[in-house]
Amino acid sequence: MPEFRNLIGGELLPAARTMDTVNPATGEAWATIPAGGAAEAEAAVEAAGRAFPAWSALPALARAHYLRKVSEVFGRHAEELARLETRDNGRILRDTLKRDLPGMAHLWQLAAGQCLDAVKGDTVLLGPDTLGLTRREPYGVAVCVIPWNSPISTFSAKAAYALAAGNTVIVKPAEQASASVLRLGELLAEVFPPGVLNIVSGLGEEVGEALVRHRGVGKISLTGSTATGQAITRASADALKPMTFELGGKSPNIVFPDANLDAATQGVTVNSVYTGNAGQVCVAGSRILIHRSIWDEMLGRIERACAGLVLGDPLDLATTMGPIVSAGQYERVTSYLELAEKEGARLVFGARTGADVVPALPGGYWVAPTLYATEDNALRVCQEEIFGPVAVAIPFSSEEEAVAIANDSVYGLAAGVWTRDLGRAHRLVRDLHSGTVWVNTFRQMPPGLPFGGVKDSGYGHDSVLEYTREKAAIIQI
Ligand code: NAD
Repeated sequence: MPEFRNLIGGELLPAARTMDTVNPATGEAWATIPAGGAAEAEAAVEAAGRAFPAWSALPALARAHYLRKVSEVFGRHAEELARLETRDNGRILRDTLKRDLPGMAHLWQLAAGQCLDAVKGDTVLLGPDTLGLTRREPYGVAVCVIPWNSPISTFSAKAAYALAAGNTVIVKPAEQASASVLRLGELLAEVFPPGVLNIVSGLGEEVGEALVRHRGVGKISLTGSTATGQAITRASADALKPMTFELGGKSPNIVFPDANLDAATQGVTVNSVYTGNAGQVCVAGSRILIHRSIWDEMLGRIERACAGLVLGDPLDLATTMGPIVSAGQYERVTSYLELAEKEGARLVFGARTGADVVPALPGGYWVAPTLYATEDNALRVCQEEIFGPVAVAIPFSSEEEAVAIANDSVYGLAAGVWTRDLGRAHRLVRDLHSGTVWVNTFRQMPPGLPFGGVKDSGYGHDSVLEYTREKAAIIQI
């Protein structure tokens, strides 16, 4: 089995302990990854701290040069990295190869272009003999904790901007899927000076917690669940640190009767909660709000669209929906199917699990696309993030009622609106409590626009300025 290593201080180091990583389409272990702990966390913080003075002192354009080299690595190794990630977390190759990896080369180029933004300050003429200045400074060692659902994309969205701003970086990938990021570490060991980029794999509550508690760390950025955001806040409370939290969601996808229903059907199924990553997407539109006048028609359309999905080997480009990432996540998703029944939600279709769903791959973690219907947005299946191919349809009668149901959630990550009415589109952009509102589209996250949440979906968003702090100077001439 391949054995992946940590990248610490420019060296690829075997860990004292390792753990298996499993292919979710087969249920079989296929590689080992480091199970790091306090010793690895200490070594990484020490290496990143040692590299910080020289890295942060580089002129911004010299840092940009390194970031462009990363973009070139993505250009050369896109297919290898896409296949590795698909095998490791089950995200279909169509997404990793055609959607994620091509975007990475662009993202690192974009971050290279933004290195100068991180060193721009303001000049304020406070009086004829008094000059005010601001300067932006990096935080020092930035710890970037990432989830398993799109490791390379999340790695890039954090590390590229943190490095552009002059921080040194430690990335902690998720234990369920670290292989693609660790392989990237092998490739990038040659690119950066030792200690500038470090990658440490292990359990969240072990190496993750040791990193976020460490006094040598100046900034934390997490993409993960709300519970982990809360745990990190508690763990790091003694050594106050600025945080960026991109957390969970229960996003509403709202269909009005005046919408283009072909596009809306595509937008609430294929581009939202079912395909791509089998609903394991933070922005999944897992609450589908449908106007009563088109209720039966839309349920029929969604069922037909889902019947056309191809479940199977995620490495096959013909596959449109893959497995659940791990045995633990499979248990979680199936427990919500039981809960939906107990809570009295009506099953519209799906709720099939296990080997029957994809007989050719009986060891995989399979859940068929599933839709429930209910009038009651207070049900737990309407309020809690399931993170699987399971949606709940909820009817509404008016625009006001749709907004009220949509906002009745502890989460506020994203929302979709399907309408041809321009006035309504703008009203909903204004009134929906979420970090992003898509109108007649879904799941577009172009670099250049902020992406983050409100309420329990987090705060802040990855960008160059997010990894800097401002200092003021007042100069009497
Ligand atoms: P998770 O919160 O379980 O784990 C995320 C990362 O945090 C992992 O690397 C994990 O090891 C680490 N971690 C866990 N406990 C920790 C601790 N106490 N200290 C330090 N690190 C710790 O999330 P997951 O299951 O990997 O991913 C799914 C979640 O991520 C969902 O809630 C999803 O909505 C969210 N997510 C959000 C976005 C976004 O941009 N908003 C994107 C993708 C995923």
